[in-house]
Amino acid sequence: MHIGVPKETAPGERRVALVPEVAGRLLKAGHQVTVEPGAGVAAGFPDAAFTAAGAKTGDPWSADVVCKVQKPGAAEVGKLREGAALVGILQATSSADLLRQLAQRHVTAFSLELLPRITRAQSMDVLSSQATVAGYKAVLLAAETAPRFFPMLVTAAGTLPPARVLVLGAGVAGLQAIATARRLGAVVSAFDVRAAVKEQVESLGAKFLMMEDRLEGEGSGGYAKELSQDQHQRELAFLAKSVKDADVVVTTAAIPGKRAPVLVTRAAVHGMRPGAVIVDLAAESGGNCEVTQAGTTVVEQGVTVVGPVNLPATLPQHASQMYARNVATFLGHITKDGALQLDFADEITKGTCVTHDGKVLVS
Ligand code: NAD
Repeated sequence: MHIGVPKETAPGERRVALVPEVAGRLLKAGHQVTVEPGAGVAAGFPDAAFTAAGAKTGDPWSADVVCKVQKPGAAEVGKLREGAALVGILQATSSADLLRQLAQRHVTAFSLELLPRITRAQSMDVLSSQATVAGYKAVLLAAETAPRFFPMLVTAAGTLPPARVLVLGAGVAGLQAIATARRLGAVVSAFDVRAAVKEQVESLGAKFLMMEDRLEGEGSGGYAKELSQDQHQRELAFLAKSVKDADVVVTTAAIPGKRAPVLVTRAAVHGMRPGAVIVDLAAESGGNCEVTQAGTTVVEQGVTVVGPVNLPATLPQHASQMYARNVATFLGHITKDGALQLDFADEITKGTCVTHDGKVLVS
């Protein structure tokens, strides 16, 4: 099978869908790989690294399967061969026009953010691999923004206490944020509506904030579900004191398909100490903090609120490496003997395939 890897064109995107090491493995498995010249440069993978691994550089759009990170623009869809396959984070549920165009070209498209969160799919899970990057980078952003050290320092100029970091939402990104903040020497506490994560939080050396009267936030598939108004108010009241005492708050709470829940109100921000920092990883889906503005940093009464977008693109080498491994495992799943072989009874294929045979398969 001929696999094509275009250069990403979305503004600020520095990742690439395949890296040389993974391209080499696909070549060994009998595939052909063509990488657009310069596609990996921003991620630290020059063309020479791809050719050394055995890949070709050239036009990737005539391939049987085109692998991308971000969804293609209209001009890129026009370059896809009729009947080709496309793999990427297509944001299918909010890209109706794109799906229509892909179906018209009889492209078989797979939207990787729709992978089911099942054990079998873990090694293909792009949301997890990229959330790992985001959680790590969020803490580095906080450390860079904060006007204080993270670790406790005992110096001739006096003793400085460690930073108190609060992580809200302890999923993949949140757990990585906790681990990173701990490595930097901060005292970390965390909260999640899914009490099941308590042990994981504690195993990273952080304190899990436990509500006496538990919230019913456990949804299906390991995800959270939206809280009722009343429960949400109870959560805000419970978190208020911890937010007030924190030097740094990293928020990562999300509910699939919904606006991110507000966990830090404007009033709570006003209650924080000047110099405190909030990094809101949910900025792109509405924000966990009422003050957050996606893509920018706001200073509100001395508190800095950072609303980063596309953090994985800011650590493109490892983000691409993890993404590429996810993609290669996924390709292994949907191909047999060098050709696509789709089993729509399979949860992974059915869950991710968004256009096939001229039809749009998701609403
Ligand atoms: P996510 O990005 O959807 O949400 C992040 C976190 O926010 C979650 O832990 C969620 O419980 C929490 N949250 C939601 N509303 C909240 C609120 N009001 N207050 C506090 N916290 C709130 O989730 P994610 O990190 O992508 O994944 C969550 C879980 O899914 C993982 O911890 C894991 O158990 C499971 N998972 C399974 C697989 C797999 O088996 N393939 C892969 C990835 C994740």
